[in-house]
Amino acid sequence: MEKTLSIIKPDAVAKNVVGKIVDRFESNGLRIAAMKKIQLSVSDAGKFYEVHAQRPFFGELVEFMTSGPVVVMVLEGENAVSKNRELMGATNPKEADAGTIRADFADSIDANAVHGSDSLENAKIEIDFFFAGREVL
Ligand code: ATP
Ligand code: MG
Repeated sequence: MEKTLSIIKPDAVAKNVVGKIVDRFESNGLRIAAMKKIQLSVSDAGKFYEVHAQRPFFGELVEFMTSGPVVVMVLEGENAVSKNRELMGATNPKEADAGTIRADFADSIDANAVHGSDSLENAKIEIDFFFAGREVL
């Protein structure tokens, strides 16, 4: 059993498709171990995406992630990290396989509907960033 962090990004929350995205996870063997809707501050988003701080799109990424509320979740299941990435599809929705979350709900490489941890190591760090131990059930 693995745990991974998922974020439904501001574009998908604004489109009112939170339930449709959660259904993709639940219908594919992942369980919601924690879930909350929050507004990220510029400082939160900057820390969360610190690895991208030197990338040319960092400013836009922080601006986008703070443009409205997000839904953060801990997903649990067998191979949860790779399963979630598979369900999400490629970063650029134009390249995402048909039937993936990004192919169905994302508009652009910035507004790409969801985030998912890219390794088990990062999943642990990202879960601790958003949730206290007693919030993960
Ligand atoms: P995420 O980390 O959000 O799950 P990802 O792991 O698929 O997405 P990363 O390479 O970690 O992709 O990039 C983080 C985010 O930065 C992407 O989701 C996207 O919104 C944005 N991003 C990545 N590459 C670009 C780019 N070339 N131009 C604009 N934005 C980008
Ligand atoms: Mg990433």
